[in-house]
Amino acid sequence: MAEPQLDRIAELIAPLRIEPGERVRLRRDHDPGYTAGLDRHRDGEDLLQRGVALLADHQARLAAESTRGVLVVLQALDAAGKDGTIRHVMSGVNPQGVRVHSFKVPSAEERAHDFLWRYSGRLPARGEIAIFNRSHYEEVLVVRVHPELLDQEHQPPAPRGKELWQRRFRAINEWERQLTEDGFHIVKLFLNVSKDEQRKRLLARIDEPAKNWKFSASDLAERKHWADYQRAYADMLAHTSTKHAPWYVIPADHKWFARIAAAAVIADTLIGIDPQYPTLDRKGRRELRQFRGALEKG
Ligand code: ATP
Ligand code: MG
Repeated sequence: MAEPQLDRIAELIAPLRIEPGERVRLRRDHDPGYTAGLDRHRDGEDLLQRGVALLADHQARLAAESTRGVLVVLQALDAAGKDGTIRHVMSGVNPQGVRVHSFKVPSAEERAHDFLWRYSGRLPARGEIAIFNRSHYEEVLVVRVHPELLDQEHQPPAPRGKELWQRRFRAINEWERQLTEDGFHIVKLFLNVSKDEQRKRLLARIDEPAKNWKFSASDLAERKHWADYQRAYADMLAHTSTKHAPWYVIPADHKWFARIAAAAVIADTLIGIDPQYPTLDRKGRRELRQFRGALEKG
């Protein structure tokens, strides 16, 4: 890996990272239209292609090594571009090594279990990358904005309000820490779209026939809770960005930039892991030579 490229990735993603304990003010400090001074036409395609190639190479090594795994958590409000980001960023990766799990409204069976149950069943195996399209963080986002959902989660009687969310933040941090200590690296991306850009994208889903299928009346209902979601996201980012599993706020008003930034954060994690193809010891190499000899005889 060329050093300048590594420096460039580190430089690009550093301003997007939430430091542990940092006060998060989304509107003030995180501009959804930020593009790091890059130009779509000059830099866009080239940088994304390089990121995608880098991911492909490292994913192949991660799979061959089969020791460590990667969990990519993708959170966003509606129409922020989660699906397109997954499609573009993972376009070069061997589909056998990646699993995408999209979490929707929980089923009755899922609700009957503890709040992390359905997510823990979808974690990556060693050698795999798993992408959570929405994730365990919905349990402190949509459920916090709509606390009536808690009634369906069969919670035992216990204080609700602030204390409940603190408890869930703690449980999530602990769960993620244990996963990282066991060799699973966690990449957490919040695609940060502005209210105005969301409006434009929802309008496009109505106006363009090929996008009609994406429109959902519930997107409009959730949009009414915009301010509540911003507060819930800010609090979640402040409490669950940890040293072992930091959050990155990805500016998402420009899809081309969001894809580059997401690819850069995932690439940075894989470069940090630096997975290696397994090598053979002396005995293994001798055996291979014997196999070669046998094959040469026909
Ligand atoms: P799209 O971009 O295609 O709309 P999406 O992720 O929004 O993708 P949908 O099927 O539209 O997918 O919505 C999933 C819905 O499930 C969201 O409204 C989300 O809030 C809800 N959901 C996800 N997790 C939970 C949860 N734990 N409890 C309650 N609702 C949840
Ligand atoms: Mg939706």
